[in-house]
Amino acid sequence: MIRTLTARLTLWYTALFGLLSLLAFSVAYVTLAANLNNRMDDELRREFQELAEVFRHHEQAAVARELIAEAESEGISRVFYRLYSPQLEMVASSDLSSWPELDTQATPVPEDTGGRLQTLILSEQRCSARVLTQALEGGYILQIGYLLQDDERLLEHFRESFGIGFTIALLGAALVGFLVARRAMAGLGHIQQATNHIIRGDFSRSVPLGRYGEEIDNLALAFNQMQERVRILIEELRSVTNNIAHDLRSPLTRIRGLAETTLTGGQNLTEYQETAGAVIEECDKMVSMVNTMLEIAEADAGMRKLLETSVDMAAIVRDVGELFLTVAEDKGVEIQVAVPDAQLMVRGDRTRLQRAVANLLDNAIKYTPSGGKVTLSARGESSQVLISIADTGIGIPQGEQGRIFDRFCRLDQSRSTPGSGLGLSLVQAVVHSHGGKVQVGSEVGLGSVFTIRLPEQSE
Ligand code: ADP
Repeated sequence: MIRTLTARLTLWYTALFGLLSLLAFSVAYVTLAANLNNRMDDELRREFQELAEVFRHHEQAAVARELIAEAESEGISRVFYRLYSPQLEMVASSDLSSWPELDTQATPVPEDTGGRLQTLILSEQRCSARVLTQALEGGYILQIGYLLQDDERLLEHFRESFGIGFTIALLGAALVGFLVARRAMAGLGHIQQATNHIIRGDFSRSVPLGRYGEEIDNLALAFNQMQERVRILIEELRSVTNNIAHDLRSPLTRIRGLAETTLTGGQNLTEYQETAGAVIEECDKMVSMVNTMLEIAEADAGMRKLLETSVDMAAIVRDVGELFLTVAEDKGVEIQVAVPDAQLMVRGDRTRLQRAVANLLDNAIKYTPSGGKVTLSARGESSQVLISIADTGIGIPQGEQGRIFDRFCRLDQSRSTPGSGLGLSLVQAVVHSHGGKVQVGSEVGLGSVFTIRLPEQSE
């Protein structure tokens, strides 16, 4: 049982090559043999015509002499002639001493036909002969036989040469097949090596491209992309785990501190109540953080089932704008809502889309100083619904804009503002799960614009 693909491919290639070579040889051999046969038959007929001419114009004795002379000039072991009377008795012949296997009895041949052509196997001479028996004028029959020794030798040489050539070519084909198969499989070998590195936790090895032919290169490319994706996912997972640990440690330390102070302190009822209140507040923050993380995970996992509902984004933007009016007023930030009267329908989950818009508006108000302005707008544009939240706030440096959507990302400039760094991650996860995109444009000191694009519901 052959197990490696290289060996199997080599075997297939060699077998196919061998089969095609044999086929080509058979065609060539049969054609050559047929040509030789035809040539011999033509020769016999020409010879017959010549002797028929002699027979027509001369006596029987002259014909007999001609037969002997002809055979002697050609070689009595290579050719024979026999002349039969209409009663099928042999009346003249060449020297037949080299032809002991010939049967003496002639069989009648109809006149005015091309005669009878036969191949006789002569076991003593280990050869065969081609014999033409044809009627002459007056019911006489002339038989001419030629030994096929030269033709058979030629065919034998042909077979021998093919045998040698075929063996060499077959070995060559096996070698070429092996080299080609090994080269084709080399890419798979590299992929396997890279996989072994991944199994050991090393994601740095990628498979070299452009060496093995398109199919293997495509596989290698897909493998490299998969490896990169897995590497990013693992890195994200590590950093998220790190961040969660850090973000949970602070409230937990605070809770522990509160409990310790209360334990060692005055221990009156008011102090207990204050501590309990503070502990509840810290716990709420943690619960809210954990809930947001769960929501992000859920949105990331996709929400095909939820996409069954039709949602009017114009209404959502209007509602969210109203909801934040008081918060904005308290901070001295003006909110302007520019939404068309017409509906802007998308397929999706109302609560999550509402949460995404609310998160962006919350940030816009949070990062805009008193006296600033936040504009909330929605419109339809080339089969898309665009929602934009623009503020005149502190802005985001160009270099940081790429990472603000990462989980737990909080820019240094906003450390003093409360937040978990999960808001924008949730926005992105929700928008992506609806087949949309979220983008940011910002200039430090001037403000930021966040734009959500969702595919419009087609109906
Ligand atoms: P946070 O809870 O810190 O607001 P987010 O994920 O919502 O977390 O935002 C991530 C970071 O992006 C914020 O900490 C802030 O630095 C920056 N950011 C988000 N929105 C704005 C905005 N409208 N203007 C300026 N900076 C912003």
